[in-house]
Amino acid sequence: MSATSGVPSRAFTRRIVLLHSAGCAAGAAALLLPVKQAVAKMNQKSVAYQDTPKDDQKCSNCSLFQEPNACTLVDGEISPEGWCKFWVKKAG
Ligand code: SF4
Repeated sequence: MSATSGVPSRAFTRRIVLLHSAGCAAGAAALLLPVKQAVAKMNQKSVAYQDTPKDDQKCSNCSLFQEPNACTLVDGEISPEGWCKFWVKKAG
């Protein structure tokens, strides 16, 4: 606020807007934290993961496989030759 007029100066108003923006960003990050924790991966035992294929189904032809050795659903190192009960045919 201006010391003489009682009306907020332009710089003072801009500072308030920036502080509110920073507060909103921090609040949004805090709200997203529980969501990130909620999408934790499943452990290999709970999905019956094995490091060998099941017939023609294997991680490398599953849509959830992430090169070179990970999975969007299952935790830990995943072999391209592995398999689990959530196998989903890769499109294409
Ligand atoms: S079969 Fe698919 S879902 Fe299962 S571990 Fe392999 S890549 Fe992940």
